[in-house]
Amino acid sequence: MRFQDKVVLITGGASGIGLATAKRVASEGARVVLADVSQENLNKALPQIKAAGAPEAWGTVCNVAVEAQVEASVKEALDKFGRLDVIVNNAGLMQFKPLEELTGEDWLRILNVDLLGAFYFIKQAFLHMKPGGSIVNVSSIHAIETSPLVAPYAAAKAAVNSLTRSAALEGKPKGLRVNSVLPGAIDTPMLWENPNVKSGVEKIDRADVGRAEDVAALIAYLASDDAAFVQGAEVRVDGGRLDR
Ligand code: NAD
Repeated sequence: MRFQDKVVLITGGASGIGLATAKRVASEGARVVLADVSQENLNKALPQIKAAGAPEAWGTVCNVAVEAQVEASVKEALDKFGRLDVIVNNAGLMQFKPLEELTGEDWLRILNVDLLGAFYFIKQAFLHMKPGGSIVNVSSIHAIETSPLVAPYAAAKAAVNSLTRSAALEGKPKGLRVNSVLPGAIDTPMLWENPNVKSGVEKIDRADVGRAEDVAALIAYLASDDAAFVQGAEVRVDGGRLDR
């Protein structure tokens, strides 16, 4: 029960990797806060997290791209539970589009969610978390070995890796750990239900597609005290797929 008495906040926690992570930490005793832009997804997710064993589970509607909403969600979580031990920066958007069709708006939409969303929560963590706290950023293999058609996403995730290193250095004297996970293709709604993304990934061999639970297990490790000496790490979880 690595998360007994701990409060774990997961952004984009109502679907896919975030939901699997919420269930994993719930099964290990965490009180769970889901911060997600979709009230509908939250309504479906919260009973699953309670069923997975969370002593308490709370949902807060939050667009991570809006700093005032991030501040409000963190305040809500602190008012409700009195502490925050783990933040998982998981909310993210992906889009497949050729460079000549991309607009500045496409770039800003993705950077605002995938990069600034993580930054806003790290800022709140640095303001409010006690020593021993842990932050896990969900980056992507695209941060280091990208494919065509995902330039803004790859750039945003590369910046998340850089942010992880900066935050690890500044977090260390505060007793806070910051690490990132780099998933390969993972079987979630992001991969299969979004037509923009589906067209780019349907050629991938199913054997090279991991489960959300595979990523959740790594996030839970990095979030827990088992990883007390792991700081500023970028850990791949992609089944060893090296042919991108
Ligand atoms: P998903 O689409 O299944 O879930 C994403 C969740 O984030 C949804 O519940 C959605 O409502 C929420 N969300 C979207 N925008 C938000 C916002 N602005 N504010 C708050 N919540 C928001 O996706 P997933 O596949 O589970 O992806 C989770 C993370 O994993 C993302 O950061 C993604 O980039 C990363 N990732 C996914 C894959 C993959 O193959 N699925 C691979 C590498 C990295």
